[in-house]
This record gives sequence, C-alpha cells and structure tokens, in this order.
Amino acid sequence: MTISKTVYNALLNEWGPQSWWPATSSLEMMIGAILTQNTSWTQVEKATKRLKDENALNIESLASISSVKLESWIRSTGYYRQKASAIKRMCNTLIKKFNGSTKTLFSLETQELRMELLSWKGVGPETADSILLYAAHRPVFVVDSYTRRFMTRHGWSTENEPYEILAKRFTKELEAEHTVYNEYHALIVRLGKTYCRSKPQCESCPLKFLLIHPVSV
Ligand code: SF4
Repeated sequence: MTISKTVYNALLNEWGPQSWWPATSSLEMMIGAILTQNTSWTQVEKATKRLKDENALNIESLASISSVKLESWIRSTGYYRQKASAIKRMCNTLIKKFNGSTKTLFSLETQELRMELLSWKGVGPETADSILLYAAHRPVFVVDSYTRRFMTRHGWSTENEPYEILAKRFTKELEAEHTVYNEYHALIVRLGKTYCRSKPQCESCPLKFLLIHPVSV
C-alpha cells in the first residue's frame, strides 16, 4: 500500500469521518475559507455567527455594506481589514461576473475555476483549493501548514517544497475522488491539532508506526 493510503487509513481508523466543511451554504464555506486564514476555527465561528445575526450572510449585503461595519463584525479573526476587503471583492466579482450566483461560478471547469479564484486578491492556493474541494466538490487536494509539518517530520517532504508538488504526492497515489480528499484534509487538520503540534506528541499518535527516526524540534 502507498504511504498516502496508509496514512489515510490510519487516521480514518483513529477518528472516523469528520463531516467537513462545517457550513450550511457554499457562500458561507467561501467566507469561512477567507476568515480562517491565520486564525482558529473558534474565531471564524464567532465572526460567522455575527454575520448571520446581522442578516448579512448573503452576496448582496456583503457587497454593499461599508467596509468599516464588516471589519467590526469579523474583527475577532485577525487581519480583519484585509479579510473584509477580500470578502467584499469576492461578492462584487460574483455579482459582476457570475450573476451573483456561486452556482454560475461553479459551472466553470476545474482548472478555469482555480485560475479564477486565484485571480482574486486575498485568495491563495490553499484558500482556492479549499473552495474547489468543499464548495465546488472538485477532487483537489488542499495543502496546509499541518500537511507540510507531518510530511516533513516523517521525511516525506521538505519544508519549502512547492505547494503543487506537495499536493501531487497525495493525488498521484489516491483516486481522484472529492469525498476522499475532503476526508483526508479534515483528518490532517485533526492530526495537526491533536498530535502533530509544534511540540509533537508522537508517543500516542496513530502515525507513530510510520516514524523511522524520533522527531527533533
Ligand atoms: S508520529 Fe509524530 S511526527 Fe508523525 S504525525 Fe504523529 S506527532 Fe507528527
């Protein structure tokens, strides 16, 4: 069995399905993907709740409300000015280019959609791929800092390996199935939060059997 499949099976066996992404609409998912940059999910939940309480979790409201107001609602997530402007730009683009519809946006073919998302300021590869996977249900592997960390610690990657090459390490060994990539990324996040933290807890980790050398940090 390949390393990617072995890791996947070990994590799934430990925790079972993670039911990601925790959002009730594709727009909420896309907003969450921007808000979660460099912050914890607890802060994203707080900001999302505020948007819902203000009845503002829709494309038209987010495109038209003042930046100052939006910034104040999402302040808890940090980098709130950049995030507010990324969210407003995203909603304005949806209105101007895609009839205000995520469905129209998601009618683009995967590579075209990825290029479109990457052309939006404030949307990098990790955010674009999260949207492709969790909102558009495309078989795209999301690489984040947790992925880099456990791959490097096991000697399967180097710290500065380019994003696309690291993603390919998984996709070349797995079926191109969005449900598998969905679960895999969620399980890696759980791994990074539970065991493969800045100080690794290898002794109790489900991937300990794949360690050749002890990890030094
Ligand atoms: S065994 Fe250690 S290095 Fe490997 S994933 Fe677990 S915590 Fe990280």
